[in-house]
Amino acid sequence: MKTFYIETFGCQMNVHDSEKVIGTLTGQGYRQVTTPEQAELVLYNTCSIRDKAEQKVFSRLQQFKKDGRGKRFAVLGCVAQQEGHRIFEKAPHVSMVCGSASYNKLPELLVQLEAGGRRVTGLSLDTEDTFETPFARRDNPHRAYITIIEGCDKSCAYCVVPFTRGPERSRTSESVMGEARDLAQRGYTEIQLLGQNVNSYRDPSATGWGFATLLRNIGAVEGIRRVRFTTSHPRDFVREIVDAIDENTALCNHVHLPVQSGSTRVLEAMQRLYTREEYMRRIEWMKSARRAIAISTDIIVGFPGETEEDFEATLALVDEVEYDSIFSFKYSRRPNTPALDLGDQIPEEEKGRRLAILQEKQRAIQIRRNAGYVGVVEECLVEGFNNATGQWIGRTSQNKTLNFLRAGECEDLAGRYVNVRVTRAGPNSLAGEWVN
Ligand code: SAM
Ligand code: SF4
Repeated sequence: MKTFYIETFGCQMNVHDSEKVIGTLTGQGYRQVTTPEQAELVLYNTCSIRDKAEQKVFSRLQQFKKDGRGKRFAVLGCVAQQEGHRIFEKAPHVSMVCGSASYNKLPELLVQLEAGGRRVTGLSLDTEDTFETPFARRDNPHRAYITIIEGCDKSCAYCVVPFTRGPERSRTSESVMGEARDLAQRGYTEIQLLGQNVNSYRDPSATGWGFATLLRNIGAVEGIRRVRFTTSHPRDFVREIVDAIDENTALCNHVHLPVQSGSTRVLEAMQRLYTREEYMRRIEWMKSARRAIAISTDIIVGFPGETEEDFEATLALVDEVEYDSIFSFKYSRRPNTPALDLGDQIPEEEKGRRLAILQEKQRAIQIRRNAGYVGVVEECLVEGFNNATGQWIGRTSQNKTLNFLRAGECEDLAGRYVNVRVTRAGPNSLAGEWVN
């Protein structure tokens, strides 16, 4: 039996890609092991969104430069696509390099590898296909990811994704619905729809559904109690999505809507295709919805040319929206991207200063907002038990972590939906007591 080990870096798209890669490998007679030492084939599914993420894979490969004899190494994902054949020069012990747009070809690439191929590649971006496989090996028994759209047709000035994941390709609604029904039958109750810009979804079949229609239909699948989706691009975020959330409680009341900057001038330089005002209109739709929709975002500080005034505009936007959570990053120069050659780079130290100010502001907002949940009863999907704290870990529809106590001996609650009264709130999570 052939053995493999896989390590995944980066976003949920990569995590789910790995689930599909694992399914493909086991379908080819491989067996997964839990350490690279035990494996004959070691795969790294990589991320190149920021420089730091990219460096991680090279430091992993470095570890095996001397003592990797008898093993094969494969680099998959965004770094593979971006660096291509250069990886063989940098790390000669690597024998396969494959970008996500070529995962459909994995079975034939594995045959080449097994036949002794030293430089096996899958690097073409020229594809209209999505990676569909009946074999995905899902780790979580309750929540399942479904990729509905791959690649990206936008061209944000800082971003490598259009170069690493290729052009936008949507799956047919029939295939997505089939997967959702199948998952429901197998006992999954939560579905998370994935895409770089999930709401740019456009059914390529004659059915022609847009994202909001797909969302409504997934929300109506029998047995599915929660539907999440990430990431939404503000430009394609239509009011119908908010209406759908209002009408069906199976659609989680949480939207991740990356803003990147609060300054229209910077948004224009980033080629984000919306102004601050257009973004705020979408926030207004959500704030005036009947259900309380939690909103999260991504923000980049220190994009080339970002002035103190631009940064203040971002801080003011964060104050105005009062996000439930944010992911914030220092701008990182990436190969191939339009922003690479822009002058007026902001010094690292200044980027660090701005990031710290932003994160401090957001922390205060989260403390204030979360305190408002004390006394409220929330339905949680139980994700597991934390032995260290003696608490169950729950997640609310708004995507907040709600840890709770259940007095006395009790059965395994993982995967169940329970009601919990919030008794305490911190900046990053809530704590409470079970009430049913
Ligand atoms: N498609 C999503 C969108 O348009 O909002 C984002 C996908 S990207 C994988 C995730 C986040 O990484 C982005 O929202 C952005 O904040 C961040 N990011 C992307 N490129 C970056 C860069 N060069 N430097 C710093 N952060 C970056
Ligand atoms: Fe990157 Fe922009 Fe595409 Fe998002 S929309 S993946 S940030 S290029």
